[in-house]
Amino acid sequence: MSFSPFSDPEVAVDSMAAEAKETEELTKSEDSEDSDSSGEGGSTTEMDFLRTLFSRTLGISTPEKVLDELSLEGVSKFMLSEKCKNVVCMVGAGISTSAGIPDFRSPGSGLYSNLQKYNLPYPEAIFQIGFFKENPEPFFALARELYPGQFKPTICHYFIRLLKEKGLLLRCYSQNIDTLERVAGLLSDDLVEAHGTFHTSHCVGTFCKAEYSLSWMKEKIFSDLIPKCEKCNNLVKPDIVFFGESLPSRFFSTAKSDFPKVDLLIVMGTSLQVQPFASLVSKVPINTPRLLINKEKTGEGETFLSFLGLGGGMDFDSDKAYRDVAWLGNCDDGCLALAESLGWKAELEELVKKEHAAIDAASQKSEKKTEQKEETKTDQKEEKKE
Ligand SMILES: [Zn+2]
Repeated sequence: MSFSPFSDPEVAVDSMAAEAKETEELTKSEDSEDSDSSGEGGSTTEMDFLRTLFSRTLGISTPEKVLDELSLEGVSKFMLSEKCKNVVCMVGAGISTSAGIPDFRSPGSGLYSNLQKYNLPYPEAIFQIGFFKENPEPFFALARELYPGQFKPTICHYFIRLLKEKGLLLRCYSQNIDTLERVAGLLSDDLVEAHGTFHTSHCVGTFCKAEYSLSWMKEKIFSDLIPKCEKCNNLVKPDIVFFGESLPSRFFSTAKSDFPKVDLLIVMGTSLQVQPFASLVSKVPINTPRLLINKEKTGEGETFLSFLGLGGGMDFDSDKAYRDVAWLGNCDDGCLALAESLGWKAELEELVKKEHAAIDAASQKSEKKTEQKEETKTDQKEEKKE
């Protein structure tokens, strides 16, 4: 189940334009090849022959191997070298599950199975812009339940923060809308929130579009009020991408300038099934190592392109594998293992401890404030009575 629409053809075409140009010739060849043999079914000799042929024709030699070994240790050694300056992280729901945020897609534990109480015509309706405009209550009820700020960032979030502090983080591309990257200390500039964010909200009125802050939205949501624009009385919606809406333009513009510069891509907690987000893995330079930290292997599609050594899908295991590393398990453990290999483990654990303590202290303070406020209210009421 994909959370966002990505159906805007114009945007999709724009993002694909560069790749399409590069692969135009290849696609033609692919078609003719398909009619002769059935994809991977062709014999190895035939495939090797084609590979050599295409490599020669296109002037591609075997890509330079950047990692000494295809392992977490190989990646950490590269990260500590002079060659690794720009790290991009691509993250998904899996980095937030240990914070207690349900994964939208996993059946059973997932969000959609908990939606029955909202009497939706079908579960996805809750994130459909058309349905929302007519019937916003279910979304805001869910928002109250999932409200950002009630959760603490995970070890994985703080690992990304540590990358920033070490001067290695070029950008973090997130599919999550929980704002935990921001809570962990990443700034707007460090982030591309591909599916939007709760951090800001806007009036849905076509000619108004007034912006509202997180605290404004929070107050409405927790007062059980449907947020209405103070200027035009239209609905106000958090800036998360609904079905039927296009991705933030920042996603496309930033990806275009970032990905040619990436020295290391770290993909964490995403099954890489949602486009165009997933396609970003193939946008890094041909030599750029890609580390996947996830419960299962993913992103291995596009066999034809990867067979040509042209990026495309990830290749962890074939004898042609030269840059992709998969670490299987939960994201926090993966980040701890990587941090240990980098010699950063103590620093990471210290950062998590310190930040979590600060969040606890802040929430205790705000609880006290609310209590005091309520006490004052009661006092005033009593005074009035007298
Ligand atoms: Zn308005």
